[in-house]
Amino acid sequence: MKLKGSIIMEQKPKGTYDLLPNETIKYQALEEQIRELMKIYGYFEIRTPIFEHSSVFHRKTELSDMVTKETYNFKDKGDRDLTLRPEGTAGVIRAYVENKLYANQGLTKLYYLGPNFRYERPQKGRFRQFYQFGIEAIGVKSSSLDAEVIALSYKLIRSLGLKQVKIKVNSLGDIASRNTYKEKLSTYFEPYKEDLCEDCQRRIKENPIRILDCKIDRDKPFIQKAATPYDFLSVEAKQYFDEVLSYLDSMGIDYAVDKKLVRGLDYYGHTVFEVEANIKGFGAQNVLGGGGHYEHLVSELGGPDLDGVGIAFGMERLMMALDSENIELYDEVNPDFFIITFDKTIHQKALGLLTKLRDYGFKGDIDHEAKSFKGQLKLAVNSKAKYFIIIGEEEVEQGLFTVKDSITQTQEKVTLEALLKKLGK
Ligand code: AMP
Repeated sequence: MKLKGSIIMEQKPKGTYDLLPNETIKYQALEEQIRELMKIYGYFEIRTPIFEHSSVFHRKTELSDMVTKETYNFKDKGDRDLTLRPEGTAGVIRAYVENKLYANQGLTKLYYLGPNFRYERPQKGRFRQFYQFGIEAIGVKSSSLDAEVIALSYKLIRSLGLKQVKIKVNSLGDIASRNTYKEKLSTYFEPYKEDLCEDCQRRIKENPIRILDCKIDRDKPFIQKAATPYDFLSVEAKQYFDEVLSYLDSMGIDYAVDKKLVRGLDYYGHTVFEVEANIKGFGAQNVLGGGGHYEHLVSELGGPDLDGVGIAFGMERLMMALDSENIELYDEVNPDFFIITFDKTIHQKALGLLTKLRDYGFKGDIDHEAKSFKGQLKLAVNSKAKYFIIIGEEEVEQGLFTVKDSITQTQEKVTLEALLKKLGK
């Protein structure tokens, strides 16, 4: 809240932003491209509530900062514990289970697009309300499916025209691999306990993998030197991962194995991946999207023991990447016409024409303030309309319209039929 004289001027909450029309249009174009791609890959949109029962996110096994520290929790008037969704996957899985989508077929392919909320420290590319586009392929455990989700991410990046983007993949292995890895990590970190932040001290026992991507500690040299999950893959997990990589190769996907990659959520197992922007000056928040395979999320949320794989992209970060690479996805479309009248008495007639032209699907406008001819002309010029349609008494009498081409500056009197033809009908 800001004081302007004695008047209070409201301001948006910290970490949020207004999307004004000239920006919204860019997001719409991005969304359209995404939706087209979803059709090609056979994903269908799901829209789940923005808030869920807190238990959907606050699960015993989920100890990530995002869930334990950054959620917006509140009680409603019925004393229910609710949480604004901090991410898309858990809500989608809740809906998948509740609506028994698993009963229909082996594989369910869903996508979502909408706002998420995290109480984070805002900075470039990091907000408290941000938009994600994400996909979930649920019901099947398959290295081929994991590879397809990565391939889809690659396709998205390429079809948007982004070039300076890298796909990183890794495997966290199966439960057996992760348990061995966790044990080794706990032993490794124990002597460094004093050098770790308070949360990470706790994590040594509870979940040492989280130490590797702790925002406070992750760049410390001894963390950099810690063993990687890749080093502890069981034979089966290694084979699964090798299959994923060979499928990626056969699909011609450009990727790099990053043995250190772990993802910020605890439900991942086996394949994990990130899409990273390597654009100069992009800033620290350069992960455009991240995802992976999950083995027990469906059963944790009350469903059958089924796997899933998914990825979520930050829409703001995709937009930042497009801007950084000077890519425009939309063509600015100017209106077809602007109607100008010589005096107020003709306004009624002009409104009739306006309605008719709009009914035909032409884009255009009129002045609603009874401005002078000069004033209307200014509006017409500012609107960037292709044709200015001028109506005076003479035109009304003759049943004609004066049409001025704003580009060639030529002008002629035409019938309605000829006008429609000119506009493109
Ligand atoms: P996550 O759900 O944390 O795996 O994040 C997936 C993607 O969402 C990230 O790669 C970012 O592009 C985006 N993202 C996550 N948190 C934020 C945030 N606070 N502000 C903007 N984008 C975010």
